[in-house]
Formats: sequence, C-alpha cells, structure tokens
Amino acid sequence: MDMNDCLFCKIAADKIPSRKVYEDEIFCAFHDIKPAAPIHMLVIPRRHIATLSDCAPEDAPLLGKMILLIAQLAAQLGIAYRGGNTNDTGFRMVINTGPGGGQEVYHLHAHLLGGKRPWSRMG
Ligand code: 5GP
Ligand code: ZN
Repeated sequence: MDMNDCLFCKIAADKIPSRKVYEDEIFCAFHDIKPAAPIHMLVIPRRHIATLSDCAPEDAPLLGKMILLIAQLAAQLGIAYRGGNTNDTGFRMVINTGPGGGQEVYHLHAHLLGGKRPWSRMG
C-alpha cells in the first residue's frame, strides 16, 4: 500500500479531518467515525505500519507506549478500571489484524472501547 493512499496516514497528517483527542510526535488518537460503543477511539502510530503482524522486535517500545497511551486515555475519559464501587468499570482494547481478524484499515491501530453496554459491535 502506498502511504499516500493510506486513510490513517492522511488523518495523522490532518489531510483528512477527524476528531482528535490526543497527539504527540509518535501517536495520535481520534474518535472512530462509526462508534461501536459510547466511547470508541482509535490510537495509531504516525509511522505507517500496515498490521500488527508487520511489527518487528525493534517495534516493542512503540507497541508498549501505544498500550500505555490507551490506558492513559481511558483514565482521562473516566473508564480506567479502578476496582471497588466506582463507575470506572474498565475498557476494551482491540487490534484487529488481517482479514481473519476483521481489519478494514491497513494502518496499525488500537481500538479503545468503553461505556455503558450493550455495544453495537466488538462487544
Ligand atoms: P478495523 O476494522 O480496521 O480494525 O477498524 C477500522 C475502524 O476505522 C472502523 O471502526 C471504522 O469505523 C473506522 N474508520 C473508517 N474510516 C474512518 C474515517 O475516515 N475516520 C475515522 N475517524 N474512523 C474511520
Ligand atoms: Zn498509513
């Protein structure tokens, strides 16, 4: 895939509009255009990597930071899991990989899903 044709590369570069909730030099996060849950964000690395299966051992720091960013965003959105008697009941992180995993956009992304159930998909 030519990166110039990649939807999420274009979103990262603001060539296509999105509702961004977080940006730094390495990642950006934005609302999924067709939310499957009351809270549904996508977190992507700015660097084009097609799938999780394309990641190499040297991508371990990137992937680790991406997962920690999901947890940080979940906390900001009030859906971190804190245990006990709170509304902060937790969230789901999903990385669909390849046709068998239901991946539709071939730029690595993690879904962050949360909020009151039922959810329409990925639930
Ligand atoms: P996948 O199935 O590849 O894991 O998920 C791709 C996700 O990207 C889907 O949940 C879909 O709703 C979302 N999506 C597709 N096109 C756009 C778009 O143009 N903007 C945004 N914000 N999300 C998109
Ligand atoms: Zn891309």
